[in-house]
Amino acid sequence: MRNLLFYKYVEIADPERFREEHLTLLRQLNLKGKVLVAHEGINGCITGTEAETEAYKQALWADERFADVEFKEGLTNEHGFRKTIVRVKSEIVASRTTVTLQNKAPYISPAELKAALDNNEEVILLDARNNYESRIGKFNNALTPDITVFREFSSYVESIEHLKDKPIVTYCTGGIRCEKASAVLKEHGFTNVRQLHGGIIKYGEHVGAAHWEGTCFVFDTRGSIHIDPAQQSELITKCAHCNLPADAYYNCALVNCDARFIACEQCATQLEQHCSKQCRNIHGKRAALRARTV
Ligand SMILES: [Zn+2]
Ligand SMILES: [Zn+2]
Repeated sequence: MRNLLFYKYVEIADPERFREEHLTLLRQLNLKGKVLVAHEGINGCITGTEAETEAYKQALWADERFADVEFKEGLTNEHGFRKTIVRVKSEIVASRTTVTLQNKAPYISPAELKAALDNNEEVILLDARNNYESRIGKFNNALTPDITVFREFSSYVESIEHLKDKPIVTYCTGGIRCEKASAVLKEHGFTNVRQLHGGIIKYGEHVGAAHWEGTCFVFDTRGSIHIDPAQQSELITKCAHCNLPADAYYNCALVNCDARFIACEQCATQLEQHCSKQCRNIHGKRAALRARTV
């Protein structure tokens, strides 16, 4: 199975109509995943066999609006999604700001960034992702905003205005959030901003895991990937139960706890995906009570 991650900021005049046609295309090709559509463009992550994903790439490239779409590809053992969803949104990356994409920063290529870091040049790496993403993997010494959704990014930027004349490179998974993140920085008066072209995924593919630690969070069923396809990185997070290296997130199976925690597979199974023994016990008692009352 192959996984495709892609985006394109381009005017889509009729997102509703686009949604219908695109859903038909995805279903015809037997693909699963999620594509967001807005007036400002598309953002997708889909999985299918090699032939199915190849046919999809050709179909998208045949549309002149998407002729230059770049796909980030990965391998997966199974479909990364259970459903096929195309959703119309007001933005493909929810910023809730009036950021103007024309203000986006120029790109820096993975090779250029690696060279700058190899040479100890002054570069401030700024992670444009959410806190739970940067927690399991990030560039060494990167700034990692404590945000849980991208729309909080612009208030984070206000807290680093003392860095506005420093050389800053923003990065995210595949590049889509950096188009807006870099524009937000420039609109806040930052003067020396670039964005990592193709994001972490292309960096790992092109130059490996140098200057990187941990894994890269992904929004499909894989959960995370090693950024260098040729070698595994050491994990930087630990299982909440046994303290062994782990990077898989779970949501506590006790619904009114719902805490997000990291666990190894063994502990997750043993504790039936609860964040603590306490939660499992509460859940267990309730189940027993339900069983008695039936
Ligand atoms: Zn464990
Ligand atoms: Zn819990």
